[in-house]
Amino acid sequence: MKKINEFFSHVNDKYRNHIVLAMFLFVCVFMYGMSNDEVVIPQPVASETSEDAIEFSDDSLSQEALAKTEPVVEAKKVHAYLLKIGDDFVVALKDEKDLKEALDYAKSKYLNVDADTADIALVKDERNPLVISPVLKLNKAVEKKVLRTSTGEQVGGTDFVEYPEVQWPEPEAIQEEIIVDAHFATDVIVVEAYVDEDEIEDVKTAKELITKENEKEKKYVVEPGDYPEVIAQKNEMPTEKLYDLNPGLRERDSYIQIGEELTVMVPEPELSVALTEELVYDEPIDFETDYEPNPDKYVGHETVKSEGIPGVKRVTASVEMINGSEVSREIISEETITEPVNQVVLRGSKPLPSRGATGVFISPLESYVVTSPYGYRWGRLHKGIDISAGYGATVMASDGGVVTFAGWSGSYGNTVIIDHGDGCTTRYAHNSELLVSAGQYVSQYEAIALLGSTGNSTGPHVHFEIMFDGVTVDPANYVNF
Ligand SMILES: [Zn+2]
Repeated sequence: MKKINEFFSHVNDKYRNHIVLAMFLFVCVFMYGMSNDEVVIPQPVASETSEDAIEFSDDSLSQEALAKTEPVVEAKKVHAYLLKIGDDFVVALKDEKDLKEALDYAKSKYLNVDADTADIALVKDERNPLVISPVLKLNKAVEKKVLRTSTGEQVGGTDFVEYPEVQWPEPEAIQEEIIVDAHFATDVIVVEAYVDEDEIEDVKTAKELITKENEKEKKYVVEPGDYPEVIAQKNEMPTEKLYDLNPGLRERDSYIQIGEELTVMVPEPELSVALTEELVYDEPIDFETDYEPNPDKYVGHETVKSEGIPGVKRVTASVEMINGSEVSREIISEETITEPVNQVVLRGSKPLPSRGATGVFISPLESYVVTSPYGYRWGRLHKGIDISAGYGATVMASDGGVVTFAGWSGSYGNTVIIDHGDGCTTRYAHNSELLVSAGQYVSQYEAIALLGSTGNSTGPHVHFEIMFDGVTVDPANYVNF
C-alpha cells in the first residue's frame, strides 16, 4: 500500500478518480478470469463429528491450486506420443515412427494370421488433433481365402497342429477361412503431449512393455480333436502346466470329453487384437441304429447286419478370436452333404431255454476258431480251450446255471464263472464287457459277456474252462469244437 500511496502522490488529483476506476475494473476482470479457470479456493467446512471443527474439503486440490499460482522452474519438456492402453497402461514414445513400430510389433504378435492381414492407421480426432486413435484396417486379406485340405493340413496361414491319436469325430476339415474383421479389443489411444525427456522409452522397451504378458487362469471348453498337447499348444502353455492345473488329467488323457471344462493359463497382454473369421468346415453327422428281430438267435444276442456310415455336413460359422484364441463361435448355416447311413443290428428274438443245467455243454461262441487247445504247452497245463472270434462277439453260457463270479480276475481279465450244480462249473475269461452279475440265473445260450482281450491275452478270444469239483477237464471232450 505504501507503494500505491507513493504512486498516487506523483499523479495529479485530476486523474486520481480515473485511476481508481481503472483499478476497480482490473480487479473485476482478474476475479472473473480466476473463476473461469476453475481455480477452487478451498472452503472450510464444518465437521459434524470431529473436535477439529474446520477441515479443508479437498487437500490435494488445494495443493494443486497452490501449484498453479506459484510458478515452478521445470525440467526440460519434450514433445512425445503417449500411448494409453486400457485403464492403467501408458508408455511415452518419441515420435510417430516409434509409435507405429511398437504398435505394429504388438499387432503382428497377436493377430495370429499373416501380419499383412491388417494395417494400423493413425486416425486423428476431429475435435482434438492432439488425440490419435490407432485403428486396425483389414488389407487385401479380406478377399483372401485360406484353403486347407480335408486332413486339416493348411496351404497357408496359421500353424496347423497335428493331432496324435484322434478318435472320431475327426478334426474339422476346414474348406474356407475368410477374415471378416480385425480390431483392437482393448481401448487404445494416443495423446500428443510434453513430458520430461527421461520419461520417453526407446522403441525396444516399449515393445516389451506392450507385449508383456501376465498369466491368468481361464476355463477352456474341450473341442472335437482336442488332446492335452493340442490344448496346451492352443493356449501357448507347456503340456506339463496343463496337467498341473488339472489334477487327474494325466491318468485319463485319452478320455477327454468334448464340452468338458479344463483350466488353462492364458497370457494377458496389455494389448489385445480381436479377429473375426468366417469358417467353412465339414463335420460328421452321427448315424443311428435300426434293430431287426432275428428269430434264429436267442434273446440278448446282437449282431451287426450292416455297419453304419456317418454323414457329412458343411458348416459355416463366425468365429471370434482374441490374440489367436477362440472366444466365440456362432453357426451361421449347416448344409447336409451326405446323409448318414444307419447301422442295422439284428436282435435275437428266440426265447431262451428254461434256466437250469441241461447236462449238455455248447460252445460259448457261435462261430469261432480254436487258437489253443486244452493241455500242456511249454511245460505248463493250459487249463482251458482258447477260441477266437471278432472283438465284441457274444459269449454265451455253455449251460444253464447260476453266476458265481462276474468281475476282474487278474491274468484272466474280465471273467464269468457259472455253477451248473453237482460240482460242475465253467469259466469264461478275457472278455471286453460283462453282461451278467454274480447271483444271476442264466440259461444255456444266454449272452453273458462280449468277447475281448483283457488280462493276460493277445487278441480277442475266450479262454473257456470246464471244471468238476474245481479240477479242469478238456472241454473238447464235452463240446464238439
Ligand atoms: Zn487260454
